[in-house]
Amino acid sequence: MERDRKERDADANRAKLAARKPTRTWRRQKKTCARRSSTQRNAKIPVTTMTSQRQPDDVRWRAGGCHCGAVRFEVALPERIEIEDCNCSICAMARNTHVIVPASRFRLKQGGDKLTTYTFNTHAAQHTFCSVCGIKSFYTPRSNPDGYAVTWACLDQPNDFDEVKVNAFDGVNWEANAAALADKSRD
Ligand SMILES: [Zn+2]
Repeated sequence: MERDRKERDADANRAKLAARKPTRTWRRQKKTCARRSSTQRNAKIPVTTMTSQRQPDDVRWRAGGCHCGAVRFEVALPERIEIEDCNCSICAMARNTHVIVPASRFRLKQGGDKLTTYTFNTHAAQHTFCSVCGIKSFYTPRSNPDGYAVTWACLDQPNDFDEVKVNAFDGVNWEANAAALADKSRD
């Protein structure tokens, strides 16, 4: 009985902690609030100093990779990004939502030897995936063969942005829509 009560108490504590944790969507807002309250406690540091460190157009290198860790990359992205939620045959199956970048903003850090490439249909897109864990953390899209599409969920910190705008891309009707993505791989 004593043990049961302890477990119940532990469960209740965990539930309380979980309720306090910010959701992934609101993470940045919570962070900003935390910064403000700490600056309010220390009046010597003006709030503007703390919040002006990041500008919307600032680009930072962000790390990511596959599930097993064999494939690791870095991608330079601004604070506001647009990700493509594509409904084509392969993205629909993998639930792949990706951000397209110029080649200059992507660098493979390790695991090139672990990558396997799958192609289909026109064989233009190079679907590179980890041969160990099967995760496609990035690939070369048909719409932007001079750039890369990075799987948003494969970033180490996918929510570490001021804004992540999800763009529903109609890849089923690829020919009619692909031109809208063309400039995403341009420097
Ligand atoms: Zn892997």
